Amino acid sequence: MAMRMSTLFLRTLREDPADAELPGHKLLVRAGYVRRVAPGIYTWLPLGMKVRAKVEAIVREEMNAIGSQEVLFPALLPREPYEATNRWTEYGPNLFRLQDRRETDMLLGPTHEEMFCLAVKDMYSSYKDLPLSLYQIQTKYRDEARPRAGILRGREFVMKDSYSFDINSQGLQKSYDAHRDAYIKIFNRLGFEYVIVQADSGAMGGSASEEFLAVSEHGEDTFVRDDSGYAANVEAVEVPQAAPVEITAGPAHVEDTPDTPTIETLVNALNADHPRADGRAWTAADTLKNVIVMLAHPDGTRTPLAIGVPGDREVDAKRLETKVAPAEVEAFEEKDFKEYPMLAKGYIGPGVLGEEKASGIRYLLDPTIAQGSAWVTGADEHGKHVLDLVYGRDFTADGTIQAAEIREGDLGPNGKGLTLARGVEMGHIFQLGTKYAEALGLKVLDENGKLVTVTMGSYGVGVTRAVGMIAEDNLDELGLIWPREVAPADVHVVATGKDDAVFVKAAEIVAELEAKGLEVLYDDRVKVSPGVKFKDAELIGVPTILVLGRGLADGVVELKDRRSGDRREVAVDDAVAEVL
Ligand code: ATP
Ligand code: MG
Ligand code: MG
Ligand code: MG
Repeated sequence: MAMRMSTLFLRTLREDPADAELPGHKLLVRAGYVRRVAPGIYTWLPLGMKVRAKVEAIVREEMNAIGSQEVLFPALLPREPYEATNRWTEYGPNLFRLQDRRETDMLLGPTHEEMFCLAVKDMYSSYKDLPLSLYQIQTKYRDEARPRAGILRGREFVMKDSYSFDINSQGLQKSYDAHRDAYIKIFNRLGFEYVIVQADSGAMGGSASEEFLAVSEHGEDTFVRDDSGYAANVEAVEVPQAAPVEITAGPAHVEDTPDTPTIETLVNALNADHPRADGRAWTAADTLKNVIVMLAHPDGTRTPLAIGVPGDREVDAKRLETKVAPAEVEAFEEKDFKEYPMLAKGYIGPGVLGEEKASGIRYLLDPTIAQGSAWVTGADEHGKHVLDLVYGRDFTADGTIQAAEIREGDLGPNGKGLTLARGVEMGHIFQLGTKYAEALGLKVLDENGKLVTVTMGSYGVGVTRAVGMIAEDNLDELGLIWPREVAPADVHVVATGKDDAVFVKAAEIVAELEAKGLEVLYDDRVKVSPGVKFKDAELIGVPTILVLGRGLADGVVELKDRRSGDRREVAVDDAVAEVL
C-alpha cells in the first residue's frame, strides 16, 4: 500500500538538528527518517524503516545465497559465556552491563561469538554436521566513547553478524572466501565506493581479517594503498623496519662543518616545508628567536624536526609542534648534544618526548631513519651541526618510541609508494580459528572418532551504519537522493492544486504503479502548497518524482529525476510506462 503523505507519521524540519555534524545525518533527521532519543540512540520512523528493511533484504539475500541460515539471538545475555572468553573484562567500558532483580550480572550483547559457539555446541557433535554457517540481523549494544554522526556510530545499532563452523582451517578458508564474495556483492548493491583492506584482528583474536571500508572523508579509519592492489588499515600496516645498522658512528657530537646550515638554508627549508600557521613567511629573525632542529637524512634530504618559540610557548609549525621554555634555550650548550637524549629533552622539549607526543617527533624516532645528523639553531645561536646520531643509542628516549607515522609517498611492503585515505568501516570478516571454540569447549568427533576443536569465522555488516553511509554518499543541498535499490519508495507522486480531478487521476496512477510492483509515496495532502510539497519531495529523496497539476488539463504530467534534476513533461497516459 502506498504511503500517503496525508497520514504518514512524518514531520519534515526546515532547520538542521543542533547536534548533527555530517550532512547526511542532518538530512536523515530533517527528512524524518530517524530521531534522536539520547546520544547514539535513535528511533526509526516509517521512512527510515523502509530504507533499513531494503538494506536488510539485500544482506539477507546474499547471506542466504551462500547457504547461511538465519537465526535470532537475544540482546540480553548472561555473563558466564563472556566470562569464559574473558570478554566480560576485555570489553571494558564499551560493554553495557546490568543486573537482574536477583543481582545476577547480565550484559547487552556487543557481538555474539560466544552465543553462537554455545548454540552449536548444544546441538551438534559430529564432523558430519559441518560446515555450518549461521547469521542474524540483530540489535547490538556498545557504549561507544564517541557516538558520532547519528546512526553511523550508534550505541544501539543493527548488525548482520554471521559465524562459520568448520572442521579445519581449509574449511574455514572456504567459508571465509564465500563470505568475502557475499560482502562484495552486498557492498556493490549498496552502491559504495569501497576498498577491502587488511585489518588488525584486535580484540576479536584470530589470524586473518579484512575490512570493507567505504571511502569517505568522514571516515574514522585511515588506510593506505598502492597501485599494486595492496591496501591496509593503518592499524594493520607493518612499518618497514630498517635493516639493523652496524653502529660505527658516534658518539653524537656537535661540529662546525661545511654542512652547517646557514640562516638562509634554514629559512628556505622552513618556508618550503613548514609554512607558518599565521600565513606570514619565516624570516631570518625568526630563526634567531626560534629553536629549530633539522634532521639531515643520509640521502641528503632534510627534515625540520621541531620549531619552537621560546618564551611564549606558542606553537608555530603546522605539523611539528613543540614547546621550548626560555630556561631550556639558555641552557643550549654543546654538551647537551653529547648525549642525544639531552638534546631531546632540552631542545625538542620535554613536552614532546614526555606527555605530549607531536607527530613530527614520532618521525624523528622512526627507526627507518636509523642514522643521521641534525641541525640545531636557537636563540642567538647560529646553526650547529650534530653529527653521528644513531637511533637506538642516541635517541632511545625513555621508551616513548612509537611506530613511525605513515605518510603519503612512504614505501609499502611491495616497495611501492603509498597513498593515504579515510574510510568508514562497513564490514569486517575474521578468521577466528579455535579461540572461542577452545574457551567454550566446542568440539566434534572427526572421521576417526577423535574429538577436534571446531574452527570458526565471524563476519559483520553494519546495517544501520550502511543506511547512514548511503545517506552521506547520496545528497545535495536540497536533500537526500536514494539509490533506487534502497529508496523508501520507487516513485514519489505529488498531486498539486485544488482540482479534484488531479487527485482522482493521481490516485489512479498510484494504483497502476503499485499493480506493476512499484512502491509509491503519494503526496495527497490537500491544504499544502505545491512549493512545500516540492521541497519535501526533494528533501525525502525518492529517486523519481511524478507531479500532477495544472498540466493535467492538457493531458501532461511532469517527471523529475531527483539525482540529475532533469524534468520533462510526459503524456499522462504514458506516465506509468515512463516510470517503470
Ligand atoms: P569501528 O572500528 O567503526 O568501531 P568495529 O571494528 O568496532 O567498528 P566490528 O566489531 O568489526 O566493529 O563490527 C562489525 C561491523 O559493525 C562494523 O564493520 C561496522 O559496520 C558495524 N559497527 C560497529 N560498531 C558500530 C556502531 N557503534 N554503530 C554502527 N555500526 C557499527
Ligand atoms: Mg568499534
Ligand atoms: Mg574497526
Ligand atoms: Mg571491525
